[in-house]
Amino acid sequence: MITTDVLIIGAGPGGYVAALRAAQLGKKVTIVEKGGLGGTCLNEGCIPSKALIEASHYAALPPKAAQAGVHYGNVSVNFGNLQDWKNSIVHQLTSGVEGLLISRNVSIIKGEASFLDPYTVSITGEKETIVSFSNCIIASGSTPVNVPSFPYGERVLSSSEALNLSEKPSSLAVIGGGYIGIELGTVFANFKTEVTILEGMNSILSGFSEDMASIVSHGLNSKENVSIHTNAKVHHIESNVEEVVIDVEVDGKPKKVQAEYALVTVGRKPNTDQLQLEKAGIDTTERGYIPIDTECRTNHSHIFAIGDVTPGQALAHRASLQGKLAAEAINGDTVDATDYVIPAVVFSDPPLAVAGPSEAELKQAGWEVEVHKFPFNHNGRALTLGAEEGFVKLMIDPQDQTIFSAEVAGQGAPELINELALSIQAGLTAEDVSLVVHAHPTLGESIMEAADKAIGFPVHSL
Ligand code: FAD
Repeated sequence: MITTDVLIIGAGPGGYVAALRAAQLGKKVTIVEKGGLGGTCLNEGCIPSKALIEASHYAALPPKAAQAGVHYGNVSVNFGNLQDWKNSIVHQLTSGVEGLLISRNVSIIKGEASFLDPYTVSITGEKETIVSFSNCIIASGSTPVNVPSFPYGERVLSSSEALNLSEKPSSLAVIGGGYIGIELGTVFANFKTEVTILEGMNSILSGFSEDMASIVSHGLNSKENVSIHTNAKVHHIESNVEEVVIDVEVDGKPKKVQAEYALVTVGRKPNTDQLQLEKAGIDTTERGYIPIDTECRTNHSHIFAIGDVTPGQALAHRASLQGKLAAEAINGDTVDATDYVIPAVVFSDPPLAVAGPSEAELKQAGWEVEVHKFPFNHNGRALTLGAEEGFVKLMIDPQDQTIFSAEVAGQGAPELINELALSIQAGLTAEDVSLVVHAHPTLGESIMEAADKAIGFPVHSL
């Protein structure tokens, strides 16, 4: 039996950050992990996917370079070397997490945790360990949804297997045009795999505004080796040793899609099945998520839940924020996890990024909204980068010019959105942002130009 101040279940970006912060605050911390330190994000999510996306950009460079008169020979990719490179990045980061935990005296236990009662868990690993805790943070994350009519198998892949393919597939059907499907579909499309995207809604990236999603679908549709079918309902996948045959209804008409592999990215589910939450009396929603209050507390005030296992945006940086706040709440600090702007990024071609509610959401909530958009084709740096497709859009409160929210589509969006998140969180007005001198020539000038437009003095646009 081990006794600890804070027990953390799961060492993803939620759990390991919570552990580090709780240890900084002087708590005796124990973290239990059944898989790899770093969780989904480091091992089979954010980091490996971004490594593959970046490598695929090298492969897609020749046509863009040719516009500027630079010509490459034939491009080839060695998937074995690619995987080694990606795995070395993952290893560097996961061992870094281990080093940080050890240096802050966090006890790491390998194994699977399940509750025995509201103050005790059992951990089954090499041997059974019983841990008694004063506070617990559940950070067990999420896993891909397995659809009963097309279960995962040798040819039907989840994102985790797709990230580890040792050879380039000749063809790939992506079922689900959300951000994970689009990011991974783009990787293989850039490597010249024949990619078919099947999306049930009437647009890919349906959570994003229409002008953002349409830039990405236009980019994908312009590639010879990509086809996108929206309003596509997949009924069944037949797979054999060589291929999959997908029965799908597109706009109400039956169709068959053949491919070497199917990648299913139709959603993720919270990892609560194995936790025996009922033994601790912890509530869950109908879909298995753990509801929390503004301090990330469950219905037991000494048990917290953070990250993908809770309702809300399934994003690594949200999990990390909640991890810090839960540790601070355990320390007796006053926290409110709803006080923060959580940006979201899609690493598509071109990438998209948002911070704060969309125009539609603001209007639905009864706000009056002014929208000001500055296009990248008016920005000098964008032209030199061959990245003229895109824009910065600001949603402004007409009463006092405060920035409600922002969208960036186009190259640099994943970095540019951080300035906008800061501006929104700090309650800045369009004038405040327009007064910040942005270096020239940079994509960031588009933020200043959109703010100039909002205050009625546009410089490089009408
Ligand atoms: P996780 O990272 O899932 O970690 C939970 C950990 O808990 C796991 O390691 C699991 O093994 C462990 N665990 C579960 N149950 C138990 C148990 N009973 N006992 C012990 N251990 C247990 N997010 C972004 O913000 N940006 C991105 O670019 C991005 N890209 C992504 C790309 C892909 C392909 C995928 C799949 C996800 C991506 N995400 C991205 C989402 C991101 O990975 C998750 O939001 C994030 O990892 C959630 O963190 P977490 O700590 O809540 O859970």
